[in-house]
Amino acid sequence: MMGKTEITFEFDSSSENESLARTVVAAFLARLDPTMEELSDVKTAVSEAVTNAIIHGYDGEPGKIKIHSWIEENTIWIEVSDQGVGIPDINRAMEPLYTTRPEMERSGMGFAFMEAFMDELCVDSQVGQGTTIRMKKKIYSAFILS
Ligand code: ATP
Ligand code: MG
Repeated sequence: MMGKTEITFEFDSSSENESLARTVVAAFLARLDPTMEELSDVKTAVSEAVTNAIIHGYDGEPGKIKIHSWIEENTIWIEVSDQGVGIPDINRAMEPLYTTRPEMERSGMGFAFMEAFMDELCVDSQVGQGTTIRMKKKIYSAFILS
């Protein structure tokens, strides 16, 4: 049985790196032989988290986004961190339809999607210091292999 295996990478906060980030995590996840649906769920969650770091965390300004992902047994964990503005009220921010950017036509559904597509979502944030979101998902197709 496989032990723990991990990747860490950092990239500039720019929208063109959003697809890069989700593709890297998807390639890492491939070793658990996910279904198309599981793969798509994880890619969507990574996209939402990275988009939030770019748009809200750094407000379009330059900054670094870090992803740390690890696989233990048949579960993938993904941490996405920024050192941006931080979130003053995390509970409020996580409410479906809550957005601080209605003028940008955001729908306030990013956290709701991450929660729906992953098994667990934790948000840790300090105003003025940044935000780390950690999520995990068990990959059921991996049961066949383990
Ligand atoms: P959508 O994701 O539907 O486009 P949204 O990004 O506003 O809209 P969520 O992703 O659910 O919705 O995020 C809710 C709110 O939480 C954001 O409007 C923003 O105020 C805050 N937020 C989320 N991520 C961060 C972050 N990395 N840094 C600072 N604030 C954040
Ligand atoms: Mg969002």
